[in-house]
Amino acid sequence: MAERMLQFTKVSRAMPKKRSAKERAEDFREIYGEFSPDAAKAQASRCSQCGVPFCQQGCPLQNNIPDWLKLAAEDRLEEAWRVSSATNNMPEICGRICPQDRLCEGICTIEQSGHGTVTIGSVEKYITDTAWAEGWIQPIKPPRERTQSAGIIGAGPGGLAAAEQLRRKGYQVTVYDAYDRGGGLLMYGIPGFKLEKDVVERRIHHLEASGISFRFNTRIGADMSLADLREQHDTVLIATGVYAAKDLKCPGVGAEGVLPALDYLTASNRVDLGDTVEAYDAGVLNAEGKRVVVIGGGDTAMDCVRTAIRQGAKSVTCLYRRDRVNMPGSQREVQNAEEEGVVFEWLANPEAIIDSKGGKVKAVRASRMKLGEPDASGRQSPVKTGETFDVKADMVIKALGFDPEDLPALFNETSLTVNRWGAVRVDYATLETSLPGVYAAGDIVRGASLVVWAIKDGRDAAEAMHKAMRAAEAAAKVAAE
Ligand code: FAD
Ligand code: SF4
Ligand code: SF4
Repeated sequence: MAERMLQFTKVSRAMPKKRSAKERAEDFREIYGEFSPDAAKAQASRCSQCGVPFCQQGCPLQNNIPDWLKLAAEDRLEEAWRVSSATNNMPEICGRICPQDRLCEGICTIEQSGHGTVTIGSVEKYITDTAWAEGWIQPIKPPRERTQSAGIIGAGPGGLAAAEQLRRKGYQVTVYDAYDRGGGLLMYGIPGFKLEKDVVERRIHHLEASGISFRFNTRIGADMSLADLREQHDTVLIATGVYAAKDLKCPGVGAEGVLPALDYLTASNRVDLGDTVEAYDAGVLNAEGKRVVVIGGGDTAMDCVRTAIRQGAKSVTCLYRRDRVNMPGSQREVQNAEEEGVVFEWLANPEAIIDSKGGKVKAVRASRMKLGEPDASGRQSPVKTGETFDVKADMVIKALGFDPEDLPALFNETSLTVNRWGAVRVDYATLETSLPGVYAAGDIVRGASLVVWAIKDGRDAAEAMHKAMRAAEAAAKVAAE
């Protein structure tokens, strides 16, 4: 083992430099900088090269983390990038937005021994950002072109990962997306302060240059049918994500100024991309000068509160019905939001939206909660204490999560089976749906999840689609003989 490794007792854990809260509230740029080459080497060298690397078990992609940390510590960055990109289609994106505290870094052995986890995500980002800068990432040239084709519905991380894997094997791949740009929630959900948009665009351009066709502004079920796609392609992947927002159930929810989170975030991301958004210009989807209340405790809620800060809100309050420890969002993001001036009302459940005579939102009435007995999921259920309080508001954002859309109805395919929440049912060995030759990946199978899981599904589905197409090709050859 290189002497460079096992430095965790001498080198302290450090993240790349974070911009001050004041400075970052002024724009939508990412808040963390890049490691210097020396800092990246030093941080990578903290890894103890565990014989049983728990970090790898914590990564949904089973990334070969100890190997690329060792190569990075030895300044062998091109090799580090090759190892890292062998299991991940967008390491620089995962390095930025995976909730590492719940995945790879959350179970790093040296953290368990009290030394602070290896900063795996930041090193991963550094390696692939370097690969882009050095020109090591070049358009894919498959060893041979195949005539069979795949139609992929959805240009989010699940669809893009599958498209890339299939293209690498030489298939003709077309990605269809309802939006005008690729990336799915990477482009229109997650704000620039976590993931700058040119990082996503760079990936899309790379896939285009690799021979993958994109058909934007094409909603399957409206502009084209699933049956058309099955006719045109040898195999089809459904990677449409989940977009039916869960609604708030309390009196007054129809008041003016009560908004769904994704409308709000998409408008902000579009403005950041230079698009004109009328509802933003008219002030409907712009928090400037307003008292904003965001309801929810997940990643979406965290992105809304921090977007409102950047838009110049007068005050931003987040209401969540459980406590800080039991919130689903990343603790790192809560800390960032607090630094930026967001006020958290933990154990607070909305009871009513109070509006003015003109129907405009004026305040949110909330019940103070306490944690009671654990529910079926093992989490303690919040119960009312009997105390209520009001938070003044000019804008209320509902960030309560998402359900799948009714795909059998949208696709006019009643034989596409879904579970009771509406997620597409698949054979977990192959990710094939109830429709032969049609596969599914990402949030539409799992329910609202994470980018890294969508990538994992996209890769697994691509492998199964490849096997099925090879089998069909072999069968056709035998039949022709
Ligand atoms: P999506 O990314 O949703 O992409 C689906 C694509 O399918 C979209 O482009 C959509 O336009 C297209 N589509 C849908 N229906 C059709 C149709 N009928 N025809 C054609 N195209 C269609 N995860 C993290 O790991 N880290 C984070 O920090 C994080 N932050 C998040 C913040 C927000 C605000 C949200 C909403 C989610 C966040 N997530 C985060 C979750 C993550 O974005 C998703 O788990 C991931 O994007 C799912 O990928 P996907 O490919 O399944 O779907
Ligand atoms: Fe960690 Fe995500 Fe990278 Fe896996 S993909 S090593 S979970 S940051
Ligand atoms: Fe290195 Fe931590 Fe992984 Fe062990 S668990 S190999 S110390 S990153």
